[in-house]
Amino acid sequence: MSNFDNFSRSTIFDSELTLKNEVFKTNQTSEKTPEQYWEECKRIIKDNVSSQVFSTWFEPLKAVSCENGKLTLRSPSQFYCEWIDEHFYQLMRRTIKEVIGENAKLQYKVVVETKEKERPATIKVAGLRRPPLKVAQAALPFEEKPNIPESFPSGLNSRYVFENFVVGESNQFATSAAKAICDSPGQTRYNPLVVYGGAGLGKTHLIQALGNCVKKKFRNAKVLYTTSERFTMEYVSAIQNNKIGEFARFYRGVDLLIVDDIQFFAGKEKTQDNFFHTFNALHQAGKQIVLTSDKPPKELKDVDERLISRFQWGLTADIQPPDLEMRMAILKKKSEDEGIDLPLEILEFIARRVKTHIRELEGALISLIAKVTLDNKELNLDLAKEVVYGIANVDPKPLTPDDIKEAVSKYFKIPIEKIVSKSRKHEIALARQMAIYLTKQFTQLSLKSIGSHFGNRDHSTVLHSCQMIENYLSMDKTVKTAYDDLVKKLRR
Ligand code: ADP
Ligand code: MG
Repeated sequence: MSNFDNFSRSTIFDSELTLKNEVFKTNQTSEKTPEQYWEECKRIIKDNVSSQVFSTWFEPLKAVSCENGKLTLRSPSQFYCEWIDEHFYQLMRRTIKEVIGENAKLQYKVVVETKEKERPATIKVAGLRRPPLKVAQAALPFEEKPNIPESFPSGLNSRYVFENFVVGESNQFATSAAKAICDSPGQTRYNPLVVYGGAGLGKTHLIQALGNCVKKKFRNAKVLYTTSERFTMEYVSAIQNNKIGEFARFYRGVDLLIVDDIQFFAGKEKTQDNFFHTFNALHQAGKQIVLTSDKPPKELKDVDERLISRFQWGLTADIQPPDLEMRMAILKKKSEDEGIDLPLEILEFIARRVKTHIRELEGALISLIAKVTLDNKELNLDLAKEVVYGIANVDPKPLTPDDIKEAVSKYFKIPIEKIVSKSRKHEIALARQMAIYLTKQFTQLSLKSIGSHFGNRDHSTVLHSCQMIENYLSMDKTVKTAYDDLVKKLRR
């Protein structure tokens, strides 16, 4: 049964996603304008996502038309549609069905407005492009026009190429291996190549770039990109439709097999067994295999030992999170590709704050560009701050005692010199105690070190100040308000 896990899990997820807003269920008879349809959709979406997410990703989309159940939305870039499809696929699908009807379709019209061009460039992109989750609908690639190499469904996205992949220390090794394979697929010792690393670090981009490169160089090569989940779905579907023979033949006829996210093979014994045989057949025939995983093969849980040992036959290469310089290089490249010249100050600000995922970096950049081109906002550091703090996983700059002194000084309108002075005047002492208390709360500094920032006071004075503020907070409303306001300011 374990090979059906993926299917049943997806289906449950699908039906569990109930929209909080049920208002628009009825009354779909009267004709509405595209804007009205989209407004209704937005009201539902708003109820189901955070306000930051809503304003970053959905607000910039504008309704263009709604004909025969197909809603067309204007999007500031192709990345927007891809991001939404990737992150909000279910929500979008359920919402437009709810508002427009069961057969509703979604299309994006990408309108890139750059300053140099007089007329905006537009392209059309089909919305909701993720493969449907139902097994019955999962298209089997081998059913699609066999024996015609040109139309071989490689599953590759042409956006992912080496040319737009920035190489730095963190991904150099994996990239070199991928490029070596591109020169002579199946002929290197890197078979299989397993690229592993955390989410959003470029694994998919890199292996698809490899696939696109091989496809371009070796015109007759059958290159196939798939994911472990898709492989599983197709396998289940092949069992259901008595097409196991075709399934095996299809996969064994591939010259370069790329399987993304093999960690999702975990626990699916039958699928693993089938993949094991596919792997062996391809390897023996000198065909190239490339895999990705979120962890090194030997750490994969619930994956058959013999499969793990196969994964270790070739080369295992990791991708690490990018360092600051590389994050800046990525932002620079991407902004140039979008036709925007980002000042160094803004580049560095974004790169310093958005650390974990390259995907998040891209997200920050795209929403910044959208705010500038669609909302006509001025491109400056404040706008960058607004955008960056709307993105998840930002690493806020650690506050220093000086930041806190400055905020307290402004709030109480008492100069910093007085705050750190020996004065015992009530309002000055209160401001000092507040600043000390906040420093204790917002920094990792020791009591001694905090004291040294406030006129060389000793650690017992620091403790006493904290105690005083805690007493005030439970009794004194004005102090409590001051504290709350300051915390809000400092958090920002
Ligand atoms: P993963 O598969 O590791 O989760 P992806 O390959 O999907 O990550 O990368 C996330 C996003 O970041 C993609 O849009 C990708 O194009 C971009 N990206 C990742 N690494 C780089 C890089 N080195 N240069 C340029 N873009 C990158
Ligand atoms: Mg990926």
